[in-house]
Amino acid sequence: MEHINFLAFAMPAFFLFLFLEYKLIRRRKKPDIFNYESSVSNISIGIAERLINLFIAASFYQLYYFIYNNYRIFDIPSSVLVWFALILATDFVWYWYHRLGHEVNFFWAAHIVHHHSEEFNFTAAARITTFQAIVRTGFWCVLPFFGFHPKMVITMLIVHGAYSFFTHTQLVGKIKWLEYVFVTPSVHGVHHASDEKYLDKNYGDMFTFWDRLFRTFQEEEEKPKYGLTHPLKSYSFLWQHFHYYFEIFELWKRSVGFKAKWKAIFGSPAHMDQDIRPILEKRFLQDKSNPHQRLKFKNYLYIQLGISTLILTFFTYYFDVLNSFDKVFVLALIVLTLINCGALLEQRKWIYYLEYARLYMIATYFLYEEDLLSFFLIPLLIMIFAEQLFSLGKKYQSIILQIETSE
Ligand SMILES: [Zn+2]
Ligand SMILES: [Zn+2]
Repeated sequence: MEHINFLAFAMPAFFLFLFLEYKLIRRRKKPDIFNYESSVSNISIGIAERLINLFIAASFYQLYYFIYNNYRIFDIPSSVLVWFALILATDFVWYWYHRLGHEVNFFWAAHIVHHHSEEFNFTAAARITTFQAIVRTGFWCVLPFFGFHPKMVITMLIVHGAYSFFTHTQLVGKIKWLEYVFVTPSVHGVHHASDEKYLDKNYGDMFTFWDRLFRTFQEEEEKPKYGLTHPLKSYSFLWQHFHYYFEIFELWKRSVGFKAKWKAIFGSPAHMDQDIRPILEKRFLQDKSNPHQRLKFKNYLYIQLGISTLILTFFTYYFDVLNSFDKVFVLALIVLTLINCGALLEQRKWIYYLEYARLYMIATYFLYEEDLLSFFLIPLLIMIFAEQLFSLGKKYQSIILQIETSE
């Protein structure tokens, strides 16, 4: 029997919980907890991370084994007490990984994406990028280095990751007695807030005592305003991933002298020059049709995200038995679709060409599969003729890109 990846079940489970959260919130008549654009954008980023994770997770695990086999300091046996120690150690490493993620520009560039969302619900939990997963893996290496067996570490990371999913919701209010030990949705909600008194607080993932120990604990008092102090006004899939790296690079270019250049990369995000982002936005995001327009044909995006999720679920399940060509095709197809979804939210001018590129890619893939790759020009010619004969561009504009004016 081939390898089966049980991580595939995480996707349906995520959507089931999301559906339940959405239904309960509607019943409580708090519709502002969800926002269409923000949910689509959060889920898109989550899909990309889960997708790319398939390609790199094995190297993460190999790295843990490599460190454990060659450099471990202690020989820690497996026992109930050790599992207990590991859960504490994991959360302690997390605390510092997360805190440095907020205090060092280079790490913040990866972690900032998790904080873009101005809505706090389960979709915000999905907002993790591959860059963040890589940085996090670097920190987790401490655990096998100390002598925790990689098998235990990997199991613990799954438990730890699952826990933090459930702290991203407004369904549960404050539970004061629980907060003495555990991170609750209210505690983590404070971490996602941009209010002055809530800034740089509650870095713990499962336990609150690290925050209490290092004086970064803050309980929820007034209702938090979620999101960044300087919100990113874009749903562009690529821009959300890369904007802060560009900001660092721009700051680095402007800095004079070694110390200043060092600070541009490893200094505090609090000192980031706030003039930089608008300049970069002008340079890279200029082709936005109109910032106050929003897509009317929402189902088109839901269908794309639905299909991407479905493909990703099966892809995860069968990942180990697929050949490299199929893997690269699925990777490219889903990434293109996610870029497409982000572009649709912003009504980008080049969106129509992207649709064609995706169609052409699918056609070429099937030609290759049928050993007909020498006919690669045929689909291109059909597309050009179809465009000329039926003016598809205009139809696309009037059907798909229908807009409504937002407030
Ligand atoms: Zn954070
Ligand atoms: Zn969070």
